[in-house]
Amino acid sequence: MNRAQKSIELAERYGARNYHPLPIVISSAEGVWVQDTSGARYLDMLSAYSALNQGHRHPRIIAALKEQADKVTITSRAFHNETLGLFYEKLAAYTGKERILPMNTGAEAVETAVKAARRYAYDVRGIADSMAEIIVFEGNFHGRTLTATSFSSTPEYRRAFGPFMPGFRIVPYGDPDALSAAFNENTAAVLIEPIQGEAGIRIPPAGFLRQAATLCAKHGALLIADEIQTGFGRTGKRFACDWEQVVPDIYVLGKALGGGVTPISAIAADAAIMNVFEPGSHGSTFGGNPLSCAVATAAIAVIQEEKLAERSAELGDYMLQELSSLSHPDIKEIRGRGLFIGIELHTRARPYCEKLMQLGLLCKETHDSVIRLAPPLVITKVELEYAIERLKSVFGSE
Ligand code: PLP
Repeated sequence: MNRAQKSIELAERYGARNYHPLPIVISSAEGVWVQDTSGARYLDMLSAYSALNQGHRHPRIIAALKEQADKVTITSRAFHNETLGLFYEKLAAYTGKERILPMNTGAEAVETAVKAARRYAYDVRGIADSMAEIIVFEGNFHGRTLTATSFSSTPEYRRAFGPFMPGFRIVPYGDPDALSAAFNENTAAVLIEPIQGEAGIRIPPAGFLRQAATLCAKHGALLIADEIQTGFGRTGKRFACDWEQVVPDIYVLGKALGGGVTPISAIAADAAIMNVFEPGSHGSTFGGNPLSCAVATAAIAVIQEEKLAERSAELGDYMLQELSSLSHPDIKEIRGRGLFIGIELHTRARPYCEKLMQLGLLCKETHDSVIRLAPPLVITKVELEYAIERLKSVFGSE
């Protein structure tokens, strides 16, 4: 049995079967490239679901990690540490929000936003206790906690996990009339992915985000943007909300905030909202730990200083343009914003992902029929051409 077979065998023998990975064992990575145990190289077109916008092991982020690892890694929030404040300052400036609340995973940040919105509804707006409602959208993906599972519309995410949490109302994504009709006096917030990632890079009709923001303002509800997958330059702007000049009341952030190195997530909001939390009301042992904060501060600096949002916009346009020449009968639609592109097929995407893997391109299907193309944003045009060539060869046009 070779090294790769041994790794897969161990994972399959001892692990829960909650993932269905492609049969490749990655042993090292740098920038946009990963290497398997046999030394074969692949271009990473998934970026760990956009956690790697800065690329694998970005030198500046790794340097921050090492420097902090040699000092102190975790203090808990029972004490202050030297990196937390600097991280807050950096993320507050990046988001334009007054206050930050750090957690670890995206799902926890979503939970935090839901808690903030409920408290704001009761403490500030005077909605009757336990009556608050949050509007979410069909096809949403906000993580795997029971709260997020409770308002998912995807049967496989929900099956046999009940009872579910009340207080959520699901409306069709991109339908302003349905959204408008869903508001009532108990509406605390609208929780939206500005582009639905896991649902298959679903982009709402132009103007929808703005309409959602206007409706929230009219009803006194909070607009919560889950930018966990779409933030930090992924769609060609700082945040996907920027495409419609929408400033949500709460940003929910994660993934690339950790620079592809440590799990760190956060919500960002102004003091009027964030002040609903007092000591003892919410927290996390690892949330705001010095190691993750040092990494995240460097991770944001890399996004800004290397102009990764601009690069994503430019190269994303180029890639969409190149892919528009594909006319394979299995292709239903190709869509995207920046380097966040989906190829929707009439058929299963998995066999295509397996074929692309054999050609040195790592992609993963989402929702069975969509190939998500989301390389690290540090990718060069030459590297992107490598990817485009392989996509063209698999979909049979030159
Ligand atoms: N929200 C969105 C929009 C996501 O895409 C994801 C992960 O894919 C999450 C939340 C959950 O993040 P995590 O897996 O870090 O809990």
